[in-house]
Amino acid sequence: MRQDDLAANQTPGLVCAHNHFYSALARGMPAPPTTPTDFSEILELVWWRLDRALDLDIIEWSAKLAALTALESGCTAVIDHHESPNAIEGSLSVIADACAEVGLRVNCTYGITDRHGPEGAAAGLAENDRFLSEGGIGMVGLHAAFTCSDDTIAAAAELAESHGVGVHVHVAEGKVDDWERLVGHTNDQWLLIHGVHLPDDHGLAGTIVHNPRSNMNNGVGYSRPWRFDQPVALGTDGIGSDMLDEFRVAFVKSREVDVTLGPDLAWSWLETGWQLFPQAANDTVTWSYEVMDPWRLAYTTQLSPVEVKLDDKIVWADGSPTTVDGDEIKAKAAEAATRLWARLADLR
Ligand SMILES: [Zn+2]
Repeated sequence: MRQDDLAANQTPGLVCAHNHFYSALARGMPAPPTTPTDFSEILELVWWRLDRALDLDIIEWSAKLAALTALESGCTAVIDHHESPNAIEGSLSVIADACAEVGLRVNCTYGITDRHGPEGAAAGLAENDRFLSEGGIGMVGLHAAFTCSDDTIAAAAELAESHGVGVHVHVAEGKVDDWERLVGHTNDQWLLIHGVHLPDDHGLAGTIVHNPRSNMNNGVGYSRPWRFDQPVALGTDGIGSDMLDEFRVAFVKSREVDVTLGPDLAWSWLETGWQLFPQAANDTVTWSYEVMDPWRLAYTTQLSPVEVKLDDKIVWADGSPTTVDGDEIKAKAAEAATRLWARLADLR
């Protein structure tokens, strides 16, 4: 962590290594037609219905709301994973522009999948290529091996290689995932999300991104991330971008299985974020609490940023964003959410 010029109540900008901004408007949505009984049903009945209902306008307001709440939590950089099968083209630029307006750093990716046929996979691949070719900051996204053909996986790996970036992919989140088909394609630039059911000797290169709250919420199990040889980072998987909160959850989850583990372990996962998104290390968050060290923060639940600086530019001060009207974003996002929920209610 950058220490030289930081005061005791400051940290660099925190990094969320895996998020889904389109989830921001899901809170309050209609209940699924039946109650999901396992992770596969959670995907089918909740998330794979929600992503079909997204359009570019809804994507814009969900991204702005998510960016606003990230800054509010002292998070200045987010690695997002997006899917909107009925509004693919241009979606990554909509997210990037929305975040730029609010003052959040974002790394965008479109999660390619064969769930909507080969045309859908091709359109997802093309959107990643378009965005990266136009100079966008991002990676190439894959949903997960179990929804992608071998050809799609190979094409994503090849596209990533050609742009000099990694692939951002869900891996072994639930038990149903033939992640073995990724072996041979990966390199150190890949982001392997979850890894709950990976064996220790899985043979995949890249950073594992641990999302403890999401894993508990979906009842998929616990990855015990310290068993992996490779770097481990922290993400939220769509449940906000409050990384101090996610750090506390990661800490207590690790203590649940091994009470000798200290908070330095979960803090080290938070610090990996600065390797993935080095620009955030130049950001400065001044907190309503000192001293910002892992042992204190593990048991301090009420703190918030007083000021957030992106490089030297103040983007958050005294509870509000400085470059946009936060109340307007919340109001517009609420309107977009109402449209999204109405659409969901009509979807089978
Ligand atoms: Zn995810």
